[in-house]
Amino acid sequence: MAKTYTARCACGDVKFEFDMAPDFVAVCHCLDCKKASGGEAATFFGVAEDDFTLISGRPHAFHYVAQSGKGLDRNFCPNCGARVFTSNLESFPGLVFVALGSLDDPKGIAPKLEMFTRRRLAWVKPLDLPQYEGMPS
Ligand SMILES: [Zn+2]
Ligand SMILES: [Zn+2]
Repeated sequence: MAKTYTARCACGDVKFEFDMAPDFVAVCHCLDCKKASGGEAATFFGVAEDDFTLISGRPHAFHYVAQSGKGLDRNFCPNCGARVFTSNLESFPGLVFVALGSLDDPKGIAPKLEMFTRRRLAWVKPLDLPQYEGMPS
């Protein structure tokens, strides 16, 4: 039986699922998120590695060292190029960061905070949420 939350890449080759309701949901304006997503910010959330199940596809992992100096693996669908999740996060062991847009039904999941607001571009209005200049500590 499928888990509570299901997600997939743009072409549907890579599919994964998890049960736990996302708690740490962040809009991140950092430079890495800008570069990796191609947008002004990225919205993602943490899922416990134990709860994260890949059900189809073979995501391609690119190892990357973030501005923080910590390593991570960015996982893309090799078929459509969609960025789906980030794993092996040196800064957050035991967590997989899932890109919000990969969810089949993202409507019920809203950000809880904004981070790296010092990198937010002037045309973006802050959300009515806790604001962190850098990484929340
Ligand atoms: Zn795909
Ligand atoms: Zn970021």
